[in-house]
Amino acid sequence: MSVIDVKKLKKYFGKTKAVDDISFTVEKGEIFGFLGPNGAGKTTTIRCMMDFIRPTEGTVNILGLDAQKDSVELKKKIGYLSGNLRLYNKWTGREHIDFVSKLNGKDDIAKEIIEKFHFNPDQKVKSLSSGNKQKLGIIMAFMTNPEILIMDEPTNALDPLLQNTMYELIEESAKNGTTVFMSSHNLSEVDRVCHKVGIIKDGKMVATESIRNLKEKRLYTVTAYFSDIFDKNEFVMEGVGITKEIPGGLLLTAKGDINELVAKLSGHNLKDLQIEHASLEDIFLEFYE
Ligand code: ADP
Repeated sequence: MSVIDVKKLKKYFGKTKAVDDISFTVEKGEIFGFLGPNGAGKTTTIRCMMDFIRPTEGTVNILGLDAQKDSVELKKKIGYLSGNLRLYNKWTGREHIDFVSKLNGKDDIAKEIIEKFHFNPDQKVKSLSSGNKQKLGIIMAFMTNPEILIMDEPTNALDPLLQNTMYELIEESAKNGTTVFMSSHNLSEVDRVCHKVGIIKDGKMVATESIRNLKEKRLYTVTAYFSDIFDKNEFVMEGVGITKEIPGGLLLTAKGDINELVAKLSGHNLKDLQIEHASLEDIFLEFYE
């Protein structure tokens, strides 16, 4: 059984369809990246999963429990990192950590992450930079050793070095059996750390794929330079896109079988030819066409 099971989730704010019929599952120990640009509906989905807001339609089931009916019980099992952290300005980091510790947090985990992130817990929150506030949020989300981590843009405000520390922390948790659901607008981050990706666009899930499958999707970029005369219309064929004309040549994309394209190209006197597997970035753009 899936650890997270979201079915036909819809959340409308008046006429705005923030989340429009989204379904996905996440398996135990999986790191699921919920990828999309700002305004795509990521935070709204997460807020429904956490039962901070109620969906217009659809269900969220986590660890076999209903996100609405079993909300109190579920919150004990979930480590949550908001994209919009609310902390007490007058408290120090240590006071926040002690508070979570009294609920169900583990001091040894907090200590380990404090060291990893070089976090100073003795400063009052009001004097912390946004990066340091984020570190505190991360410590509080991880220190209960939760079965599930739900994080909204977890590397927000962290510099690249600390982002890497965060990726290692996420990977370590997943290895120990924690299931991770994280949103991101950063493709290379999802590529770096996630096993599976759900791509959300205008409230709809346009694709759910394992990162490996996504990379194996046969999409090529082809750059051809011609010594003879060519006409771009020759290359109008199934699965081939003409990205742009470049001096003396063409930049093309090819999907699936490239034999027909190669045959057409070989009828020409070529100066140079380059065929590359498309980057994850290009594959992503395909979904956003
Ligand atoms: P993301 O997290 O991907 O940036 P959001 O879930 O925050 O996207 O927003 C999705 C859409 O829903 C946006 O158009 C946003 O303006 C709208 N939206 C989000 N929250 C509210 C709200 N409380 N009231 C009205 N519209 C909202």
